[in-house]
Order: sequence, then C-alpha cells, then structure tokens
Amino acid sequence: MQPQLIAGNWKMNGLVSDGKALAADLLALQQGQDGVNAALLLCPPAPLLPLIGDILRDSPIQLGGQDCHAKASGAHTGDTSAQLLADIGCSHVIVGHSERRADHGESSAEVQDKAMAAMAAGLTPIICVGETEGERDAGRALAVIGDQIAQSLPDGAGPERTGFVVAYEPVWAIGTGRTATPGDVAEVHTHIFGLLSARFGAGAAQETAILYGGSVKPGNAADLLAVAHVGGALVGGASLKADDFWAIARSCAA
Ligand code: PEP
Repeated sequence: MQPQLIAGNWKMNGLVSDGKALAADLLALQQGQDGVNAALLLCPPAPLLPLIGDILRDSPIQLGGQDCHAKASGAHTGDTSAQLLADIGCSHVIVGHSERRADHGESSAEVQDKAMAAMAAGLTPIICVGETEGERDAGRALAVIGDQIAQSLPDGAGPERTGFVVAYEPVWAIGTGRTATPGDVAEVHTHIFGLLSARFGAGAAQETAILYGGSVKPGNAADLLAVAHVGGALVGGASLKADDFWAIARSCAA
C-alpha cells in the first residue's frame, strides 16, 4: 500500500524569503525525529521552483508545479511547459485546479491535454475536479464530478497504473474554512473510485491516489484522511505554515 500523498499548493503566495524559510522549516521537521508516514510534495509559485528545488535536493520531499501548458514549446507567453518542469526537478504538476478553471476559463478538454503533456514529460499530473456550491445544492455534485472525470482524465499509462493522481476539491470548501464532512468525502471518493475502476480496471484504480482538498487543517486532517479511498490531501492555506503542514502529514495513519 503506497503512503498517502500530502501536497502543499502555495498558490500565488510568498516572496523569495518566505519560500526559502518555509521549505527550510519543513526540511528541518522532516530531518528531525518526528517521522511521518506520508509522501510530501511542495508546489510553490513557478519562479520559486528552482530555488525550492535546491533546498529540497537529496531530501524525500518532492517538488511540483501548479500548472503547465499542453504544448511542449512555442509562442505561449507566460506559460510553462511540462518538459521544463520536469527538467528543473519536478515530479508532479497540478492541472485543472478550480481557480484555473474559473479564472482562466480552462475546460476539461484543456485539462486533459495538459495532463497528457505532463505524463509525456514524465510528470505525474494531479488532476483536480469538484463541484460548486450551487451544483451541490442542486443535487448535481456526483454528475458534475462524473463529467469532469470523464473529460479531464487522459488514457491510463498501462494496465496496472494510470500514471496520474486525482484530487477531489469541492469549490465551496477551497479557502473558505468550510470542509466537506467525512460522509460527503466518502460518497464522492467511492464514486470516483468506481469510475476509475470501470474505465481503467480495478488494479489501476487501486493504484491511483484520490486526494481530498478543501480547507484541510491539522484539526480535521485525521478524520478526512481516514475515509475510504482517500489517498492523501491537497492543502492550500495550511501548507503555508510549516507546523500546520507537518501536523497534517503526521495525521496519516501509520
Ligand atoms: C486548494 O486550493 O487546493 C486548497 C485545497 O486550498 P485550501 O486548503 O486553502 O482550501
């Protein structure tokens, strides 16, 4: 059984000094006595990636991008290719975060193209899906997530592995302090697991981590991470404090 993945999405936060201090603090915690049964991933803003990568070099803490372009290169001002992320030492890249879907109008088809580009570059895409509050209130959460899963996920990398991670992030829980209940999470993660099994086979579905994201904090992490089919957490706000991020990682069951 693979360890749960605890991924920190720093979003557009922090200057050079903040990023350096946060990565160094986490490294110190990781190197201390206080072990965790989790894989750790940091996704800083793109300009900080090489710097944070230098700090994390030779440590088990992995580095990831927050987005990538679907094309390998070309006239795409302001974008970053998956190949470049891989070249500077990233192992993962987040694609289809709800903030990118909302702020940049990214469709599920574009998210799928980005995920394919990431896999072609040797990265593991973390493909985000999740319903809005209105969609949940209208009883459409599972249908919306089903559509996003169908349209955003690329073909799997092989019979026993998909090669990607899925993150369920209800939009109404991101950065709001509101968290889905363990019951909500169980329902959606079981649904996603069923969709993955039907499309990729039970073995590949079992191997695919399904992260929960949305106001995960030290106080609720243990309950959320204990839910069936929760393969880890995608953490925004609480990933900006080393102690909080570490406490979330420590919530993973031994
Ligand atoms: C996120 O944006 O991926 C996220 C989960 O944010 P927060 O933890 O702040 O809700």
